[in-house]
Amino acid sequence: MSRPPLDPCSVYPEVSGLPCPDYRLPTTEPMPPAHRRKALDELKAYETRQKANFLGYQANQKLDFAGELSEYLDFHVNNIGDPFVSGNFTVNSKVLERAVLDYYAKLWNAKLPSISQSDPNKPPKFTQDPESYWGYVLTMGSSEGNIYGLWNARDYLAGKFLLPDTDDRPAGDGKPHATETRLTYRQAPLPADNPNAFSPVCFYSQDTHYSIVKFMRVLAIDTFYAVGTARYPGQCPLPRSGGVWPQEVPSIDNEDGPGSIDTVALSSLVSFFADKGHPILLSLNYGTTFKGAYDDVEAAFAAIKPALQRNGLLERKVHYDPQRPDKFDIRTGYWIHVDGALGAAYMPFVEMAYDQGHMKQRGPNFDFRLPCVMSIVMSGHKWVGAPWPCGVYMTKVKYQLLPPDDPAYITGSPDTTFSGSRNGFSAIILWDYLARTSYAQEIKKALYTNGIAAYAEEQLRELEKRLKMDLWVKRSPLSLTVRFRGVKKALITKYSLSGEGYTVRGMDYVYNHVYAMESATRERIDQFIAELEHTPDAFPPNPTPHVAPQTVVATTPESPARVFVPLTGRGFR
Ligand SMILES: *Cc1c(COP(=O)(O)O)cnc(C)c1O
Repeated sequence: MSRPPLDPCSVYPEVSGLPCPDYRLPTTEPMPPAHRRKALDELKAYETRQKANFLGYQANQKLDFAGELSEYLDFHVNNIGDPFVSGNFTVNSKVLERAVLDYYAKLWNAKLPSISQSDPNKPPKFTQDPESYWGYVLTMGSSEGNIYGLWNARDYLAGKFLLPDTDDRPAGDGKPHATETRLTYRQAPLPADNPNAFSPVCFYSQDTHYSIVKFMRVLAIDTFYAVGTARYPGQCPLPRSGGVWPQEVPSIDNEDGPGSIDTVALSSLVSFFADKGHPILLSLNYGTTFKGAYDDVEAAFAAIKPALQRNGLLERKVHYDPQRPDKFDIRTGYWIHVDGALGAAYMPFVEMAYDQGHMKQRGPNFDFRLPCVMSIVMSGHKWVGAPWPCGVYMTKVKYQLLPPDDPAYITGSPDTTFSGSRNGFSAIILWDYLARTSYAQEIKKALYTNGIAAYAEEQLRELEKRLKMDLWVKRSPLSLTVRFRGVKKALITKYSLSGEGYTVRGMDYVYNHVYAMESATRERIDQFIAELEHTPDAFPPNPTPHVAPQTVVATTPESPARVFVPLTGRGFR
C-alpha cells in the first residue's frame, strides 16, 4: 500500500461545499455511517444548488426517471455486442434498445427495420438489407459515436475489408484450433494508377468538437493540414492564404461569424486533394458546441461533388484480390459524418414546428434523406436529458465493414460496437423518455427552448444598453445558445458557464455562453442578468494582448505538425 508523502487534499482543487477530507476513503474500517451520511448530504446539497443555476452547457437537467427506474440501479444490465444479435449476456435491454434505434431511424428518415446480419437460418426475405440502417446506443456520449464513425469511415475509404479466416494449417497437427468462425482484417491492393487511392484525407471546420480533433490522433487519420503541410507545402489554394495551409477548414467569417463551415473554402480544399486521388472524409457539425451552428450538409456536398465526380470518387470498385477480378465492393470514395450531438435530436422538431407554421425558419437538411450522409451521431443527455452520458450512432448496413454478401462468406460478426460491455440502463432511460413523449410534446419543447434562447439574447441586449458596454452578444440562426463577453470566475462557477477564446489581430477575446435547454427558465435568465448587472467587475478586462508560447521545437519536414490540438475553448473548459 503506498503512502502519500503529503496530504492529497492539500494538492487538489477546493470545491466550495464539498470539503475534500470529508470524502477521504477509509481502508481498515468502513466509514462510520454518520460520516458517510454527512458526506452524501453535502453532495446532494452541492449538486442540487449547481443544478438549480445550471445554464452553460447543452445538457438538459430536467429529468424525471428516479420514481420508476431507480430500481434498475440494483441490476447490472449490459447490452454487450451487436444490438440486433441476442447474445448470451441475457440481463440486457436490447429489445428496448432496438425500439429506441427504430425511433431515431424514423426521425432521421432512414430505412427500417435494420437487417444487418445475413443469417442463413432466416428466410431469404430477412437476409441483409444494405439500404437499411444500423446503429447502437452509445455508452459514452457523441464522442464515442464520433470515434466509431471516423473509424468506420477510415477503414471503408482505406480499402479495408473483413473475410472469414480460412484456417490453412494442416488438420491433425496436434495443436489446438479455434473452433469459432473468425474474420481476418485485410487490405485491398492498391490500384496501379493511383498511389493515393486508399489514403483518406479528413476535413472539418474550425468550430468542430475537440473529440473529432483528438480522434485524428487516436485513429491516425491524416487531416488535409497534415498532408498539405508535409507533401504540398506552400500550395494551399485558398485566397489570401499565401499558400499556407490552415489547420482546419475555415468557418464562415472565421471567429466573427455564425460558426458554420465555409463551403466555398471547403470546395477548393477538397478539390485539391480529390484531384490528387485521395478519398475524402468530411466531418460536419449539426449544432457546433460553442456557437450552436448548423453546417449546411446539402450545400457542403454540392460544393465538393464536382471534384468527387471528376476523380471517380462518387462510386468506385474496391477489389479484394488481384487474382479474382470478380471479387469487389462498390464503395463511395467519400464519407460524410454528421456530428449532431444536440441538433440531430432537436432540429427535426424545429422542422415540424416550421411545417406547422409555428416557426419562421428551419435548419438545413442533415439526415438520411440526403444520400450523401453516411453516419449520424447524437448525445442522449443533451436534448433528451439523461442522468449520464449516452447517445445514438447510426449508419447504413451498406457502409458497415462486414464480410461480403456471398453465401460462402456468410458469418455474423456480433462484435460490431466500439466497447465490449455497453450500458444497458441508457437504453432503458432513452426508451422511457420516448415512451412518455409524443412528437407534439417535442415540438412544444423545441418552441419553448427556442423562446428561452431568444429571451436570453434580448435580455443581454437590454443589459448592454443599461451598462453602456458592448457585451458582444451573438446568437447563430436557430441556435439554443447565446454567447457574450466573458464574465468573472465566480459567475462561471455558479452558473457552470462554458467558455471559448479567440485570438484576433494579436488580442485574446474570451467569451462565455448560456444554453437554453429545457431546464433553463426565464426566471433563471433574469437572475443571471441581474447578477451580471450588480456584481462588481462582472466583466473582467477583455480582450487582453495575446502572449504566444515559446517555440520549443520548430516545425520541420522531419518533425511535421499533424493536428491542431485545442487545450481550451470549444466548449471544453
Ligand atoms: C457535446 C458534443 C460532442 C460530444 O458529445 P459527448 O456527449 O460530450 O461525448 C460532440 N460534438 C458536438 C458538436 C457536441 O456538442
